[in-house]
Amino acid sequence: MPTTMTRRAASDSLARWAIATLREAGAIVACEAHGWIRERGDPHALARALGAARDDPPRGVGSSEAVAAIEDVLGGIGDTCPDCSQPGELEELPRQDLPQIK
Ligand SMILES: [Zn+2]
Repeated sequence: MPTTMTRRAASDSLARWAIATLREAGAIVACEAHGWIRERGDPHALARALGAARDDPPRGVGSSEAVAAIEDVLGGIGDTCPDCSQPGELEELPRQDLPQIK
């Protein structure tokens, strides 16, 4: 349990670093109305963020781990704000595990 919590805390702070780095690079923005972070889809900004992760990872973190953290954050966010999405756009909703019909 303590191990899990420590690892969780470490990955949380790394995730926060990744989000801050992505925001600084301009790769992600927060929706002004709702505060959800969304991807801007700017490849140059993304390259800047990944370059920062490679060249200047946080203290005690390897560059590959920092790059992975950036990619992790990107994998968890979409390019639209869920609250700005129109009802009926179901693509952004998490998939539910439906029982399989055999
Ligand atoms: Zn929004």
